[in-house]
Amino acid sequence: MKPAPFDYYAPDSLDEALRLRSELGPEASILAGGQSLVPMLNMRLAAPVALIDLRKLDELRYVRASADGVAVGAMTTHRTLERSEEAHAVCPLLRESLELVAHTIVRNRGTIGGSIAHADPAAELPSVLAVLGGKVTARSVRGQRDVAASELFTFHFTTSLEPDELLTEVWFPAVPTGGGSAFLEVSRRHGDYALAGAACVVSNGSTRLAYTGVGPTPVVVESDDPDAAAAAASPADDIHATADYRRQLMRVLTARALAKARERAGSAL
Ligand SMILES: Cc1cc2nc3c(=O)[nH]c(=O)nc-3n(C[C@H](O)[C@H](O)[C@H](O)COP(=O)(O)OP(=O)(O)OC[C@H]3O[C@@H](n4cnc5c(N)ncnc54)[C@H](O)[C@@H]3O)c2cc1C
Repeated sequence: MKPAPFDYYAPDSLDEALRLRSELGPEASILAGGQSLVPMLNMRLAAPVALIDLRKLDELRYVRASADGVAVGAMTTHRTLERSEEAHAVCPLLRESLELVAHTIVRNRGTIGGSIAHADPAAELPSVLAVLGGKVTARSVRGQRDVAASELFTFHFTTSLEPDELLTEVWFPAVPTGGGSAFLEVSRRHGDYALAGAACVVSNGSTRLAYTGVGPTPVVVESDDPDAAAAAASPADDIHATADYRRQLMRVLTARALAKARERAGSAL
């Protein structure tokens, strides 16, 4: 199928993109890597009146790692972040989860901002952002604000971003010194969306997990009890797996992810 007709804009600067976002209103869509949006256009699951393509905005392509965490420009590709040694050194969850996102060819085009803004409950990065307690920066012609991961994901494919806002940066806090982390998932084939996934961070006295694919948003649990995690989730039956099977995957992934994160944190935990 072919997309419904739309107007196309490729602004040269962020200011121009923000102005277009404000003027064209909620019926226009942002185009980032296009790996999710273009199939939706082709299948006519989305029919925006206009596309605002961010591809010229080099100012949104960066990875800035420090001891505190990693700031990632929205138009940075999955592959760039995956390959960043600086990001890996302070936040190994990033590479570990990104390697499970689709295949290299998709990760060469798909962006970090697109993955977060798309808010697919089966995607890896929203859970990574949630388990780390990260945040995003949203900008509009009205100004700039930070949105915590806990406030960002509101439902399937839905965020609390306003219709005139652009997501410009994603902030992934570092795994605490002395802590450990792990990301594990179960999918039918490598590169498929996960049936369920678990991001885990352990540090002195605290345990935090966020699950992928088991509810409308990432499910965050601060407990090492696999049954508590399964009880907190609201997975659905679908053509890929039953809700009960997904809950069982959560129990298994909880145990495995905790063991791996603790091993990485060292014997003190
Ligand atoms: C075959 C295949 C397999 C895949 N498997 C996986 C997988 O296993 N795990 C996974 O996580 N993903 C998977 N994906 C999706 C992939 O990761 C996408 O790249 C990602 O979901 C969206 O990123 P994008 O840059 O392509 O965004 P686009 O497709 O361009 O946009 C997606 C949505 O986000 C909005 N958006 C994008 N950028 C911004 C912004 N800066 N501000 C506000 N809104 C914005 C768009 O308007 C659109 O609604 C797969 C895709 C394909 C084609």
